Amino acid sequence: MAKHQFKTEVSRLLDLIIHSLYSNKEIFLRELVSNSSDAIDKLSYLRVSEEAYKALALEPRIEVRLDAVAKTLSIVDNGVGMDAKELEENLGTIARSGTRRFLEALPSEAKKDSNLIGQFGVGFYSAFMVADRVVVTSRRAGKPDAFRWTSDGKGDYVIEAAEGFTAIGAAPGASEGASEGAAEGAAGGAAGGAAGGAGPTAIPGTEVLLHLNAEGLELLSRYRVQEILKKYSNHVAYPIRLVSQEKEYDEEYKEKGTKRVDEQVNSASALWRRSKSEIKDEDYKEFYKGFSEGMGTMDEDPLFWIHTKAEGTVEYTTLFFIPKKAPFDLYRADYKSGVKLYVRRVFITDDEKELLPVWLRFVRGVIDSEDLPLNVSREILQQNRVMAMIRQSSVKKILSELAELATGDTAKYEEFIGQFNRPLKEGLYSDYQNREALLALVRFKSTFGAGWTSLADYKARAKDDQKALYYIAGGEDERLRKSPLLDIYRKQGLEVLICPDEIDEIVIQSLQPFQGLEWKAVNRSGSEEGLAKDDGAPAGEDASKAVDAARAILGEAVKDVRLSKRLADSPSCVVLDGDDPSLRLRELLKGMGGADLPELKPILELNGAHALVKRLAAAQGEEAEDLARVLLDQALLVEGAPLADPVDFAMRLNRLLK
Ligand code: ADP
Repeated sequence: MAKHQFKTEVSRLLDLIIHSLYSNKEIFLRELVSNSSDAIDKLSYLRVSEEAYKALALEPRIEVRLDAVAKTLSIVDNGVGMDAKELEENLGTIARSGTRRFLEALPSEAKKDSNLIGQFGVGFYSAFMVADRVVVTSRRAGKPDAFRWTSDGKGDYVIEAAEGFTAIGAAPGASEGASEGAAEGAAGGAAGGAAGGAGPTAIPGTEVLLHLNAEGLELLSRYRVQEILKKYSNHVAYPIRLVSQEKEYDEEYKEKGTKRVDEQVNSASALWRRSKSEIKDEDYKEFYKGFSEGMGTMDEDPLFWIHTKAEGTVEYTTLFFIPKKAPFDLYRADYKSGVKLYVRRVFITDDEKELLPVWLRFVRGVIDSEDLPLNVSREILQQNRVMAMIRQSSVKKILSELAELATGDTAKYEEFIGQFNRPLKEGLYSDYQNREALLALVRFKSTFGAGWTSLADYKARAKDDQKALYYIAGGEDERLRKSPLLDIYRKQGLEVLICPDEIDEIVIQSLQPFQGLEWKAVNRSGSEEGLAKDDGAPAGEDASKAVDAARAILGEAVKDVRLSKRLADSPSCVVLDGDDPSLRLRELLKGMGGADLPELKPILELNGAHALVKRLAAAQGEEAEDLARVLLDQALLVEGAPLADPVDFAMRLNRLLK
């Protein structure tokens, strides 16, 4: 038995792990299962690439064994294993450059408790968070002898021969009794019940046996371990079996003994890693249902999915689903992320909202990277070059698939738009890089029909000399459609986009002209400028009299009173000056805490041809005042703006009606 000192760096790391990662100790299981999965990956590779290993039968398996009596938990695999030298190199020093960098990045003891540790893989050593002694027994593939490494994680470790060791027997069940044997731990007994036999074809594999410390005792609960395995390792490609002795009860619920339970706990189907040609639509749908459970969407098929495997400088796989219905928390500030990050099939996080841009928060799915470290922290993710590349190409991919859907399957695309048009508009506002693509994807309602239209279609229908892209915003669809402001456009055969979303105005104000068409809100003063005007109100003497009267009566209540060129049947309307926010937008900003907004005054436009306006021109005293105020108030009402004094409005109206 040879006794070895840990390299000082390892001792320091162990100390850090035990004291800093304390709060999230369950991740040790993810790390160890991932090691096992890697080991099986390596052996599978050897078997296909090297003659000497072809004779080895491999039925890949990972077992997590619980022993409540011995208070141990072990992670066992039939992967490539380690010989004595590898045990020393891999577990006695810090082989990985990531771990070394971690230590170098620690400037002083004071930084001990910082989050730094989360930025680098700590791997195997995390076992010491829940164990006060760890025994690793292993046989390297192709080697006859097995070895055992034992340490209490304090300062030294021993390596000795482990005769007769087999991690997992050839046939399932052959390892029965292994956990009893393992309870002996480093005492030198055979850890495995079934003999693997010596010689170059002896069964390789590794058992990592943890003697649980006080912190780790909860791990003796099968339920708890299953929960952790499902959370982090559900999609590890190899079956993970959880093996334990569980109490048995008779019909009267009296304990009658224990039985061995040996069940696979993971789905072992990293669906996204399989090649597209192997996966049926049904598989995707089923996967989505399980995956999106608890993510705020309905238990139904997704609208569609996008499965991408990228190879090159950055290797990753993504599988994104677009739900049929918007998740219920889509417009809540505390919405839950729908994208899970995996690194080499190992779950990393489902609580990172920056994996995709916020406007794509309705997407559900998986990003699985080959190049990120397992213990990547949130801070690192946000600045990580690999992550930035994955994110950028994922957005591009989603956008191009949507574009394809928009032309290839209009009905489905409109179903998508019905749910997610608004997030796309958010993207228009916030995602400058992808604005072009998004402009092609957003849809609008319009005065030409009840359906959706794209901007390109609007442009195609526009008149040859048309310079503007007209829109009306600030209210519900139906009310906007009835607005008197639309009169002139209807008469001229000009199409106006109906923009009922709260955010429409803000979004549109941030846009450049679309293919030469300047965005023009129809409720702005001057927006009707340049429209041919041959049948509107004649600007007679009466009309200017009415305007003067209204201006004098309304005074500070309006910014100005003008003769309208846009009204046909309505007597009056209010419009906004230049860049003033609309009344509706103002309400919105106020609601969001914009308390110091300057008082907003509309411009009142009068229809010189309307009887009420003519009456105003001739009226005196109280009647003139009633007419002017009612013309303003009704125009505000039509705009959906609250009246300052509704009672006053009603009284004046009644007097006029008498
Ligand atoms: P890593 O991130 O490289 O897995 P670890 O500290 O977790 O870092 O492990 C160090 C090394 O020990 C691994 O790279 C691997 O070579 C070896 N190792 C760990 N666990 C196993 C295992 N179950 N089977 C074979 N080799 C293993």
